Order: sequence, then structure tokens, then C-alpha cells
Amino acid sequence: MPHIVVIGAGIGGLTAAALLLKQGFRVTVLEASTYPGGCAGTFFHQGYHFDAGATLAGGFDANGPHTRLADKLGLEWNVSPIRDAAWVVHLPERKIHQYVDQQAWRDEYLTNFPYSESFWHRQERLAKISWDISIRDFPFPPATLDEALRLPLGLRLDTFSALPYLTRKFRGLLPKQTDAEFKAFIDAQLLISAQAVSDDADALYGSTVLDLPRRGVVHVHGGMGGIAETLVGWLRANGGQVCFRQQVARLDVKNNRVTAAHTNKGLSLQADAFLGNLTPWALEKLLGEAAPTSLKSEVRRRDPMWGAFVMYVGLDANIVDQSITHHQVVMDVNKKLGEGNSVFISLSPLDDESRAPKGFRTATLSTHTSVLSWDELHKKDPEAYEERKAEYAERLLNAAEHALPGFRKAAKLIMPGTPHTYEFFTRRPLGMVGGFPQTSLLRARSPRTGLKNLWLVGDSIFPGQSTAGVTIGAMRVAKLVQERIL
Ligand SMILES: Cc1cc2nc3c(=O)[nH]c(=O)nc-3n(C[C@H](O)[C@H](O)[C@H](O)COP(=O)(O)OP(=O)(O)OC[C@H]3O[C@@H](n4cnc5c(N)ncnc54)[C@H](O)[C@@H]3O)c2cc1C
Repeated sequence: MPHIVVIGAGIGGLTAAALLLKQGFRVTVLEASTYPGGCAGTFFHQGYHFDAGATLAGGFDANGPHTRLADKLGLEWNVSPIRDAAWVVHLPERKIHQYVDQQAWRDEYLTNFPYSESFWHRQERLAKISWDISIRDFPFPPATLDEALRLPLGLRLDTFSALPYLTRKFRGLLPKQTDAEFKAFIDAQLLISAQAVSDDADALYGSTVLDLPRRGVVHVHGGMGGIAETLVGWLRANGGQVCFRQQVARLDVKNNRVTAAHTNKGLSLQADAFLGNLTPWALEKLLGEAAPTSLKSEVRRRDPMWGAFVMYVGLDANIVDQSITHHQVVMDVNKKLGEGNSVFISLSPLDDESRAPKGFRTATLSTHTSVLSWDELHKKDPEAYEERKAEYAERLLNAAEHALPGFRKAAKLIMPGTPHTYEFFTRRPLGMVGGFPQTSLLRARSPRTGLKNLWLVGDSIFPGQSTAGVTIGAMRVAKLVQERIL
């Protein structure tokens, strides 16, 4: 059977690896780190299990990507559904609960934004069309002629009703009465899911991600890393190989094909096809001189992705005893989001004792930040870098105190992380995370790399970020590899 080497044990790499193993391929995953999951991993420090990046797990509803993957593989996730509010959005003047239950959610938005009903109806209709398309394994954007020819098979009558929105920005859907609070409420959610606010985000993509709270949000027992660990367990139990501490340092290329991967520990593997669970920048670096011209010009042309400033906090659970685990804060609705003005806070569930020493719980706080300024400071002015880190940590603590009074007093361990931290731990150049801003479906990135037997998987390809998003992308890549290799 053909051999597939997957570079990276993020959710995208592991999902594609598992599906290919299920199809009968021989599969080896090479992971640089000592644990799986990358940005959706959970790491251990001083008795705490901290989520490294992703904290909110969605897509576990009946037709959600994680459920469909579990059905295909015959595995079970160690998760329990969130039934009340998926998260609470804290604006300066009000709190909005993102209820899972549709009726409770309708009551909540009508109470807070009485003029917004028709907006939500349209958003739900467009979201339903997109989710239905994703269930049909739509190969978008097509990477081969076969995929292009198959595209029309995924269309249904209702798909055509979404066509007028194909080139529109999300701001075009906002109600006329939109005020600063409503815009900040919408923008904060678009930023974490589409990596762009309503002025730039694609209308259809934005509608789809606003549905997230009602699309199977769960607690993963032991932390988000449980998703990746379940996949590693499944791969190993079914004859796949997952090797940790094996950072791929070089790829051999001959006749426009990759022939072998070499790791920093001296392991060399030949294979019929390779998947890079990498950003285009990381792949270009890995290929060096052998990088195709298209890839070289792509990384020169593109703006960098967002980065994240994070804070991992060990909390006294007697002081912060809030049972709703996810909170999103916007400190000033008239200022740009990110850079500490919008912060996502996730607490470990009170009943998950595996996450922290007795009487404690973990919190992961994050805000979007632009990567270039951090990189410059880190290289040129270490003192200013440390000062900025301390200043951002203050901003995040202020936001947490606003949403969860007592947070500062409860914080017994605080570890801030910058884009540089992400670069170090996830090997993503400049610490760019979260995939490309989804500003236009017509510019969506396909898995192509310019080499015949090498494809990208993960949040750089459409539909982009989140464990649910990269799972959809990986399902499509696994199918593509199967068609090209067999
Ligand atoms: C702060 C933050 C908050 C987020 N919040 C959420 C959230 O709440 N919910 C959600 O669903 N998503 C969230 N996301 C997004 C989500 O985490 C990512 O989109 C997703 O996990 C990315 O998966 P990936 O497959 O692209 O792989 P990555 O996570 O990028 O993992 C790639 C893996 O490849 C390994 N690797 C890299 N280079 C090499 C090499 N040369 N050799 C071997 N191994 C290599 C890395 O070590 C890593 O383990 C968040 C992300 C961040 C940063």
C-alpha cells in the first residue's frame, strides 16, 4: 500500500492521517513537539493542564465535522455537551448570553437588540446553506480538474439563493439601526472565527461562523488536547505511526515530487505522498531552494496572518466559581478590536478535576495581535519587548476582572505568551495563527503547493481556523490524496 507521511500532529494533520489510514494507506505522522494538537493542544505545567490556544470546541452536533469524523472512524470523543450558554459576551453596557437553545437565544437577542430579528433570520438561513454544503464534502476551492467537475454535484436549489451574497462583505447584512454595541458584538465574534471584522469578512462565511454557539459546543474532558490525543490513540490502535520529537528539517524534491522527509533526529522517510500541517511560510522555509515559484511568490505577496497574545492562569476556584466557562470581553466598543481591547477567556470546568490541583482551575486568555511589531521588538529591543509583554498582560487582566470580578485576586500563577512563544512551540513562522482572514470565498486557499505529491492541511487552507474548520479541510484533503495516489 502507498505510504503517506504527515508533517505535524495538529488537528488537520491527525484527521487527514486517520482518514487515509482508514482507506488502507500506510501512514506516519512526524511531530516536532512532545505532545499532539499544536494550537489546539493542552500542555502540563506545575500541576495545571493549560489549553495552549483553542479552548472552545464546536462542531460536535449531529452533522458536525467532529461527529461525522467519529462516525467514519468508529471512535468516541471524550466530551460532554454545553447546554446553557456557549459563552457570554461582556460589552461595557451589557452582557449577552450566547445560548445554545434557539428560543433562549432569540429571547436574548430581542431583549438586547430589538431591531435585529430579520438580520438573524437571514444569518441563520445563509448559515444553514453553508453547513449543508459542508456535509456534502464540497471540494472548495477545487485543487484539480476532477474536483472542479465535481463541484456542481454539491449544489442544491437553495445553494443558488446564496449566490447574490457571493461577493458581499458581512457589513452589508447588518441592520440599518446598527449601533456601536451591536457592531462590536458582531465584530468580536467574526474576529475570533473569520479572523476579520464585518467591514472585511465575507458575508457567507461570516453568517456561517455566527452560528457556532448553536452547532454542538462541548467540553472536552482533560482539555482541548483531548481531541488530538483521541486521534493519536486511534491511529496507533489501527496500525498508524505517530512519532513525537521528530521535527522535519528537510524535504528532498525530484521531478516536481517530494521523495523523502528528514528530521532533526536523523530519521529519513520515503513516501508516495506528503501532507504538510503547516502554513505556506513554514512550507516554503522547509523546501528552501526547491520551493516552487508559486509558493515563493505567495509568501512574498500575502499579508501576515494574525498572531495571539495569551495568558495562562492558575486560579483559586473558590474566588472564581463561575460555572459558565467561556467569556468574551470588549472593553471599548468605539475602538479597534484585538490588542487587548477584545479578549476571550476560558475557564476549565469546575467539575473537571484533571485540569488543576484541588481547589484550583485553569484559565486561558487571548487577544488578537499583529505579529510584525512583536517580532521586531523581540529581535531589536528585548527590554521594550518585556515591557510590552507586561503591558498586554495588564490589559488582559483588566478585561478578566471586568467579566469575572475577583479574577486578579484569584490568579495564583500567571504565564503570558506572545507570538514569539507560539513560533517557538508550534513552529509557525512569526507566530502567525488562526489561518487567513476569510474576506472572500473567491480568494479561498486550496491545499495545492505546486508540487505533485505534497498538499497542505490545517487552518491555512479553506475553510480555515478552528478544530471544526480544519477537520472539514482535512476530510477534503484525505479524499484528494486518495484520488491522486491510488
Ligand atoms: C489563541 C488561540 C485561540 C484559539 N481559539 C480557538 C477556539 O476556541 N476554538 C477553535 O476551534 N479553534 C481555536 N483556535 C484555532 C485552532 O486552534 C487552530 O485553527 C487549529 O488548531 C489549527 O490546526 P492545524 O491543523 O492547522 O495545526 P497546528 O495547530 O498549527 O499544528 C501543527 C503541528 O505541526 C507541528 N509542526 C510544525 N512544523 C513541523 C515540522 N517541521 N516537523 C514536525 N512537526 C511540525 C507543530 O508542532 C504542531 O503540533 C485558536 C487558536 C489560537 C492560537
